[in-house]
Amino acid sequence: MSRQTADQPTAKRSWRRGEPENSPAKVLREETPESLWVNVGGIEFGGPRFVVIAGPCAVEGVEQMEVAASSVRSAGAQMLRGGAFKPRTSPYAFQGMGEPGIRILREAGRRHGLPVVAEVMEIAQIPLMLEQVDVLQVGARNMQNFSLLRALSRVRRPVLLKRGFCATVQEWFLAAEYLLDGGNEQVILCERGIRTFETQLRNTLDLSAVAYAKLHTRLPVIVDPSHATGNSDLVIPMALAAAACGADGLLLEVHPKPDQALCDGAQALTPARFQELMDRLAPVLAAVGRSLGSRPLPASAIHSR
Ligand code: PEP
Ligand code: MN
Repeated sequence: MSRQTADQPTAKRSWRRGEPENSPAKVLREETPESLWVNVGGIEFGGPRFVVIAGPCAVEGVEQMEVAASSVRSAGAQMLRGGAFKPRTSPYAFQGMGEPGIRILREAGRRHGLPVVAEVMEIAQIPLMLEQVDVLQVGARNMQNFSLLRALSRVRRPVLLKRGFCATVQEWFLAAEYLLDGGNEQVILCERGIRTFETQLRNTLDLSAVAYAKLHTRLPVIVDPSHATGNSDLVIPMALAAAACGADGLLLEVHPKPDQALCDGAQALTPARFQELMDRLAPVLAAVGRSLGSRPLPASAIHSR
């Protein structure tokens, strides 16, 4: 598949421009047609292959991460997720394991040949993250933390930029513009649901923003159906819908024992349901001219930058 076909459509309507300083020029395809693919140890975001990142919301211990990594890898995930610095609404909720958690994530990834993704909450955590993590996640609550974005624009490591739950598409694109403007072009956009008048669901998954971002930006776009719904029964249908609408990949929560999870258990898939999702993804991807990315590289190939 060439870079100009299904996965790289040409934008038909131009970006609705405001003041020139409010145009995310480096992000927009209309300004710079060349697509930006993001390569993580040979796994490519934005190309013809679909990428699945899976793992628990939070790292809780060595055994939990071992079971999580081995089960997501055997089901076909290419990357492992797990937060160690958790932005929680309540100060009394589990805040994550911190630095030991990052090391547990890294080791589990290494044992199973999976590059790892974790959230970086503040500038002071960047040096540790650069040592241990392959992709730096900026969470929804930090999407407009401009000093964090500026600092991450100066590193040479991919950034997974989640859409803030109250952010417009333009604000999301302008947050990405901070990264590109500062020199970091390795940016993956992630739609994770926005806050609407709806209360039955944790968030409202804005798949139209995914199609819009694919059309108008140069960046890979992935979807997090776990935070978007907050309900494990809805994760598989929304993951399939994301694949059908042209997303480049998924970020999903999978926990060996969701009922015992310290964080976000209600939206976590069991390993068995994750396997079911992976089985059902293949025909949906085939229908839109994509395929699942190849299996992960051996551990020795990771961190070979
Ligand atoms: C997460 O991925 O665990 C997370 C906290 O996501 P978000 O920032 O989208 O709420
Ligand atoms: Mn979570």
